[in-house]
Amino acid sequence: MARVLVAGGAGFIGSHLCERLLEKGDEVLCIDNARTGSWRNVEHLRGRRGFEEMVHDILKPIDIEVDRIFNLACPASPAHYQKDPVFTIRMSTIGVFNLLDLAKDKGARLLQASTSEVYGDPLVHPQKEDYWGNVNPVGPRSCYDEGKRLAESLALAYHQTEGVEVRIARIFNTYGPRMSQDDGRVVSNFIVQALRGEDITVYGDGKQTRSFCYISDMVEGLVRLMDKDRFTGPVNLGNPDEITVLELAERILKLTPSKSKIRFDPLPRDDPARRRPDIDLARGILGWEPRVGLDEGLKKTIEFFRQVF
Ligand code: UDP
Repeated sequence: MARVLVAGGAGFIGSHLCERLLEKGDEVLCIDNARTGSWRNVEHLRGRRGFEEMVHDILKPIDIEVDRIFNLACPASPAHYQKDPVFTIRMSTIGVFNLLDLAKDKGARLLQASTSEVYGDPLVHPQKEDYWGNVNPVGPRSCYDEGKRLAESLALAYHQTEGVEVRIARIFNTYGPRMSQDDGRVVSNFIVQALRGEDITVYGDGKQTRSFCYISDMVEGLVRLMDKDRFTGPVNLGNPDEITVLELAERILKLTPSKSKIRFDPLPRDDPARRRPDIDLARGILGWEPRVGLDEGLKKTIEFFRQVF
C-alpha cells in the first residue's frame, strides 16, 4: 500500500485516478485549488477509507509524507488555459518545482502529466515520443505547450541531478463522465449542444483530426506507468483511433440522438491539423492499450451529461 498524492485530484482525470487508486488499496491524498476542478467530482469518495482531501494550490510549497505523487494540476482545456496564460505557466513551472522538491525530500516517485500539445501542430504523423514537435512559442497555445515542455525538462533535470524517480505521461485527448459542461473542449461541447438542441459548433471545416481516449483507459495507463520501474522518458498515452472533428459531430448527433444543426465557426489560431498517438512504446513497456471504443465511450459520456441536466 502506498501513500499517494494526487495534485489536481478534483479535476476530470484526477478524480477518476483517485477512485482507481483507492480501489487498488492505496491511501490517497487529493489536493486541488478547485479553479478548474470541482470538489463535486470527488464527493462520492468522501468517507471512503484511505481518502483525504485538502484545498491546496501547488504554487505554494507543501510538506507531507508521501510515497508517490501524480501531478495533474493544471488547466488543460484551451478555453481555460488561455484565459490566464501567466497562471498556466506558473502551474507548469513553479507548481512542478514545488512537487519535485517534495518528491526529493520524501524520496517519492513523481508522475508528471504532460500532453500531446508538446508536439504542437505536428509535421510528423502519427506522433512518436522521439518527435520534437512543432510548437509556436508565442502563439495562443504557447502558455500550455511550452509550460508542459518545460515541466518535462524540469522532471528530467531533477532526475539527473537529484536522483528523483520521475515518470512523464504525454496525455492525448481524453473524454468521459465528469468533464465539466463549460470545459470548452470538443467532446463536451458537442454533447451538451446536441442534448440542448443547440447548433453544433464545428471550428473551421472540421477536417482537422483528433484521437479520443476514454477516461478509464487513460487512468489505467497512468497507473501502469507510475508502477513501471526504471523508465524515465516520456510515454504517449492515448487512443490511436483517429477521427475528424466533423465525423465526431455526426457521430454524437446520431448517438444522442439529436436534431441539432452543424454550424461552422472560425478555426482558432494554431489549432493543430492532425493528432494521433503512436502507442507502441506504452504497448511494449506497460502492456497497455485502450479497450473502450469511441461509440461505447461516447454513449457513457452522453448518459453522464443527460443526468447532469
Ligand atoms: N473544436 C470544435 N468545436 C468546439 C470545440 C473544439 O470544432 O466546440 C475543435 C478544435 O478546433 C480542435 C478540436 O475540436 O480542432 C479539439 O479541440 P479541443 O479544444 O477539444 O482540444 P485540443 O485537442 O485542441 O487541445
